[in-house]
Amino acid sequence: MSHIPLHDDLAAQLATLDHDGLRRHRRTLASPCGPLAIVDGREFISFCSNDYLGLAADPALVEAACDGARRWGVGSGASHLVSGHLAPHDALERRLAAFAGFPRALLMTTGYMANIGMVTALAGRGDAIFADRLNHASLIDAVQLAKAQGAESHRYPHGDLAALERLLAANPARPGQRRLILTDAVFSMDGDLAPLPGLLELAERFDAWLLVDDAHGFGVLGPQGRGSLAHFGLDIGLSGQARAERLVYMGTLGKAAGASGAFVAASETVIEWLISRARTYIFTTGASPIMACALLASLDLIEQGDARRAHLQRLIARLRDGLSATQWRLMPSPTAIQPIIIGDNHAALRVAAALYDKGIWAPAIRPPTVPAGTARLRVSLSATHRVEQIDRLVDALKECA
Ligand code: PMP
Repeated sequence: MSHIPLHDDLAAQLATLDHDGLRRHRRTLASPCGPLAIVDGREFISFCSNDYLGLAADPALVEAACDGARRWGVGSGASHLVSGHLAPHDALERRLAAFAGFPRALLMTTGYMANIGMVTALAGRGDAIFADRLNHASLIDAVQLAKAQGAESHRYPHGDLAALERLLAANPARPGQRRLILTDAVFSMDGDLAPLPGLLELAERFDAWLLVDDAHGFGVLGPQGRGSLAHFGLDIGLSGQARAERLVYMGTLGKAAGASGAFVAASETVIEWLISRARTYIFTTGASPIMACALLASLDLIEQGDARRAHLQRLIARLRDGLSATQWRLMPSPTAIQPIIIGDNHAALRVAAALYDKGIWAPAIRPPTVPAGTARLRVSLSATHRVEQIDRLVDALKECA
């Protein structure tokens, strides 16, 4: 048998990815994140970012970052548990806890790390996880790691409360068992909302915890952008301490908040447990203090961001109205994530390329990010888009039909 060098093998697999329309490529931007992107010397209207409120390049955040760098330096120099936990990190955690309506919050370096850390710290041998089928990859990976620690896992059909109820009833709690229901609050590739009130009710009835990944709701949904729980009136301030103890909330800071990082908000006890046990918290360098300073400024803008959120709602309605009488199939999404389902991988790439020729950049999302046969354009809107830019997208899509 001849030896196949690793590179030949990988090159052959890359060729297969090309053939299946699954090869990934990057483009380099010569401009900051915003509604317009400069790529290869050309200007595009970008519908790619998760910068839903348009804060990523906001002057107030830039100013806070520069001031923060002068006061605190650039790096934290160590993990949070050693000497990397600086005063701006602490101030940010207090603000985030109060804003999300929980007793405590813990700053993490990314949402991916937050999900891995919280799930693996909470679910081990003998514990049970119940997860929505369309959860984000970071939650899927977190479940794989929890399974490697001896947890069992069950998946329920997307958003299906009756199916989840049957699963919970068929797998009754054992003494000492921890049970976690895991869900995205806003599904990242579909834009729809999880039925959080029903999920919380099931968590209470079947003695489980509800872990909510609000990557795409934090800053955008609910009064003052307090997120998906507040959107449904489930924020702890309103619904009491007992519910706080059922809920673990994860919000990311690289999307609507415009910077990077994430946080977990929960009871005092859960946060203390994560500080001692979440490996993705313990074994990584603390977030840059610059980021914490920028995020403190971002929280001010999020709190005062009603006009941005209202404009975003107008843009969502404009896009949906504009495409309603066309062949393009939108998902039933009320959020800034407005996917257009195409189906075939190559067809999705062709539509994205045709739009690109017209100066419009919207990413073609293919498996494994979405289920096979559901390739789509993931159009995401930002409060910094202008109505005319939405109209340009609608017109271009009509021309591509
Ligand atoms: N959860 C969801 C639902 C997401 O969409 C993402 C990012 N795409 C993450 C978690 C990961 O967050 P981060 O980008 O901060 O790692």
